[in-house]
Amino acid sequence: MRDMFLLFAGILVLAFFLSAAECGADVPAQNTFKVRIGAFEVFLLSEGQSEGNASILIGADPSDVKKFIASGYPSAVNAFAVRTPDGVLLFDAGFGRELFKNLRSVGIGPDDIASLFITHSHGDHIGGLVKDAAPSFPNAKVYIAASEFEWSQAVRDALAGYAEVERITPGSLGDGGAEVLSGVRAIEAYGHTPGHTIFLVESGDERLLIWGDLTHAMAIQMPRPDVSVTYDFDPIKAAQTRQSVLKFACDEKLLVAGMHIAYPSIGVLEKDDENPGGYKFVPLPE
Ligand SMILES: [Zn+2]
Repeated sequence: MRDMFLLFAGILVLAFFLSAAECGADVPAQNTFKVRIGAFEVFLLSEGQSEGNASILIGADPSDVKKFIASGYPSAVNAFAVRTPDGVLLFDAGFGRELFKNLRSVGIGPDDIASLFITHSHGDHIGGLVKDAAPSFPNAKVYIAASEFEWSQAVRDALAGYAEVERITPGSLGDGGAEVLSGVRAIEAYGHTPGHTIFLVESGDERLLIWGDLTHAMAIQMPRPDVSVTYDFDPIKAAQTRQSVLKFACDEKLLVAGMHIAYPSIGVLEKDDENPGGYKFVPLPE
């Protein structure tokens, strides 16, 4: 009888620990993903996965819509953190809904963010900059393209409480971008917004291109990079930029990460032989 009681008590204790582990803060959330780039650790921080709608597409042939996204397409809203030996970098701040929980789950606190890079000023990228009317990342130095800062009142408001905001001039694909910090180069990718900037992160001989909103509907914009979306401020320029950046990333065999690429959101590009001028995105294995 006593043995039965001890066994029962043991099962109860085990069940408690198992359920505690499920809710524990140190268990990585499902919407994070980690990859190593040289001496850096890169973390996907997803605000959520969703199903995209074909109604946002501009310039898509109806037969392509039917062929590539007949039943919708997977999408997401992401930010990325990079842990370097010199401090933690954050690329965009998402909506600010899951961001802080995601950061905590990979062992990063808001005070740990030393450098904050903004691709552009839309709400799904700057929503997490301010929390309870104060800067969410009080120790961060912020980097944003001067042209984007001048264009957007929303981003000026969101950054008003930050002590250090550096207005940068991104370089071009041709010159390999402008180094804004050791291991981070800024490259202009205008079109989605007037100052939309992408970032090339480099450690050792490994490189990752964080391409912001270069794409929104991978399922059709990979085989047909000339398709833009209604969120693109200048859809024609956005399509030209998309084509150049995709070619660059494919030719240079870069690892790429996007703010609207579905989980795991990081992968490589291959030329798509069936769709000349198009690409295939090959996600990293989960
Ligand atoms: Zn966006």
